[in-house]
Amino acid sequence: MTIEQLRTVVGKYGLKPFAAGQIASWLYVKRVKDIESMTDLSKNARAALSENYCVGRKGPKAEARSTDGTVKYLFEGVGGRDIEAVYIPDRDRATLCVSSQAGCRMNCSFCMTGRQGFHGNLSTADIINQILSIPESESLTNIVFMGMGEPTDNLSAVLDAIEILTSARGMGWSPKRITVSSIGKLKELKMILDRTKVHVAISVHSPIGEQRASLMPVENAYPVKEVFSLLHGYDFAHQRRLSAEYIMWKGVNDSLRHAEMLARLVKGTSARVNLIRYHAIPDSELQPSSAKTMEAFRDKLNELGITATIRASRGEDIMAACGMLAGRENKNQTQQSL
Ligand code: SF4
Repeated sequence: MTIEQLRTVVGKYGLKPFAAGQIASWLYVKRVKDIESMTDLSKNARAALSENYCVGRKGPKAEARSTDGTVKYLFEGVGGRDIEAVYIPDRDRATLCVSSQAGCRMNCSFCMTGRQGFHGNLSTADIINQILSIPESESLTNIVFMGMGEPTDNLSAVLDAIEILTSARGMGWSPKRITVSSIGKLKELKMILDRTKVHVAISVHSPIGEQRASLMPVENAYPVKEVFSLLHGYDFAHQRRLSAEYIMWKGVNDSLRHAEMLARLVKGTSARVNLIRYHAIPDSELQPSSAKTMEAFRDKLNELGITATIRASRGEDIMAACGMLAGRENKNQTQQSL
């Protein structure tokens, strides 16, 4: 709960308004796991609250560790489906990639999560739980909403989670440590841009509308050109960053013509382009572009005045593609129940 939501709860139980701040501190600073541990609340208050509420911390139910230090955690999700969070240590950074939904409605053809269908929205508690319950929680430096699900499709839970992460009466993080990745549902994306100061990453993957629609059906409802028209109205040169995410597939979207069109699309928004190597998924014809092709693509973008980098690939040995571990576990569960 955000501080406002806690204020409503303490009001309902006849507690003093400052009790909301005490509870927030127990939850997000001292990180207790049960209401009984909130010892500056009266015994009666703790008993009354415990009747209807719980802290709700649930540790991961499985994990897979990569030789490069990346750890993929599996959590109980919703609708009987598990979800993933991925811990990625990198020199002085420790990033957690969190999920916002169990499955996803967006049906992108290259995505393992999309293939699993949609099973439900995670609550704010489910999102914050991923951050607070991994063993590396205290050392995290960054959060990225790039796991399972589309954050703009579960807007209120994601906005509340950002509020908890960044509020002085929450975890007190700088919004500069948080990135929300989106396919670009316009109204919801605008709300994230207006109400928060977090960084934004847009999944582009093709600058050509027709081709993008074949990879990402959402293009039919929210063309990427309109997404970038919206983004032109915001300043990404100073306080917050914009990145254009671009997975590269051999012979599909990796030509220099694509690079030129991509440069035209993002020009003037201060977006940097993140070129991502594809982790092939089963039964898909899409194959990753070669390192040489990716480097030529990056160089072309740089030549055209766009900052572009190739994102280092992490955790390949633990099925790093988003949705792979949950996909395997959920399949196992289904087989067992059959
Ligand atoms: S790529 Fe993102 S938006 Fe598309 S199906 Fe996968 S999780 Fe959903």
